Amino acid sequence: MEFIQYETQGRVAVLTLDRPEARNAQTPQLLRELDANYDRATEDENIRVIVLKANGKHFSAGHDISPEATKNWKTEVDVGKSGLAGLYEWERKNYLGMTRKWRDLPKPTIAAVQGGCIAAGLMLCWPCDLIVAADDAWFTDPVARMGIGGVEYHGHTWEFGARKAKELLFTGNRIGAEEAERLGMVNRVVPRAELVEQTLALATQIAEMDPFALSQAKRAVNQTLDIQGFYTSLQSVFDMHSLGHGNALSVTKGELAILMDLEGMKKKV
Ligand code: ZN
Repeated sequence: MEFIQYETQGRVAVLTLDRPEARNAQTPQLLRELDANYDRATEDENIRVIVLKANGKHFSAGHDISPEATKNWKTEVDVGKSGLAGLYEWERKNYLGMTRKWRDLPKPTIAAVQGGCIAAGLMLCWPCDLIVAADDAWFTDPVARMGIGGVEYHGHTWEFGARKAKELLFTGNRIGAEEAERLGMVNRVVPRAELVEQTLALATQIAEMDPFALSQAKRAVNQTLDIQGFYTSLQSVFDMHSLGHGNALSVTKGELAILMDLEGMKKKV
């Protein structure tokens, strides 16, 4: 494993994003490694709770859209050849599929988030059951600046409520840890220096519970959300996201997003 560390502390498995030099930006390899480590923790009968944390200053800068990563990514999906259909299937499997699987793992998951959690960074912490945020954490989905309505995983409306979700999507503004907690997106905010310690303490407390009861409690909440339309809406909005890629492809010369000349945004995806 190059980008994910795996360790255990008693009945808790700790998965650590370990690409701090790139602000834990996600590549297909990183996602596959993360998925494999979730499998490992799930299959280990001694493990009752899974923690996802990140090394470095920031939790995750989202998908890696650096030139090098983009070149590598194009070896996975040749949009020039397969068009929107190829991209759609790839994102459906790797983004929608993986996030859905992680969200419904039979064991409780806790994300520990510090620094920036940008765009697809949200797709790593939102599928977790609980989120503990450091006081320096901030969250944003600025993808509207790239001509697309939001990232592949539409947790926004569920996490923030409709009106705040619209504001954050329309503006691309950041939301801080305290406000995220007030809106219910985050379970608790802790000092940055205590993030790992307090997350592990919470995980250890939960790990004392009966594992079957935990899986049933998790399923009760997730199933309730699904009956309210969570997963149906997720699939529907994923299609809208793909329409954004299609629009970008149609008005550019094969780019998957439209450059909006705003600070901090890369030229192409
Ligand atoms: Zn996409």
